[in-house]
Amino acid sequence: MRYHSHIVTSLCFGAAVAAHTSLSFSVSYTAGIVVGSLLPDIDEPKSYVGRRSMGVSNKVKEAFGHRGMTHSLVVWGIIALVMMWESSSLFAVGFVLGYLFHILEDFFSVQGVPLFWPFTLKRFKIPIYRTGNFIEKALFYAAFALLVYIGTKENLFYEWWKSFGSFM
Ligand SMILES: [Zn+2]
Repeated sequence: MRYHSHIVTSLCFGAAVAAHTSLSFSVSYTAGIVVGSLLPDIDEPKSYVGRRSMGVSNKVKEAFGHRGMTHSLVVWGIIALVMMWESSSLFAVGFVLGYLFHILEDFFSVQGVPLFWPFTLKRFKIPIYRTGNFIEKALFYAAFALLVYIGTKENLFYEWWKSFGSFM
């Protein structure tokens, strides 16, 4: 999945979570989701984060390969524990969720993800789209429409804007 698809689908999932929990759809929460939904592709030098990682990406890919450890639920669990231990800020919650959504989104690609690395290198998937193909584009627009729908119906955009004001 391309980075903009990851951002939009993750924000859509994040909006659904905020609508059904007491989590506030704030600037910090959405910023956490965006960063968390981009970070797993640090193992791909050609990805959005990879191109901006100043060489870190090449090292990770060399060591583990693309869609290796950074796409594992085991690694996600450790990161989630550390993040939640350190801070229970909305940014941290958003980050942990965004990271999880990224793994879920890649799970629906034909390439699949090694969910249980390092225990098994097997890639798990329910193949629905191929990176960059028309199905991914359709998913992008569907997620965008759904995000606007949930955001409007649940008054999330207003909540977001209000939290933005508190930053000023
Ligand atoms: Zn990925």
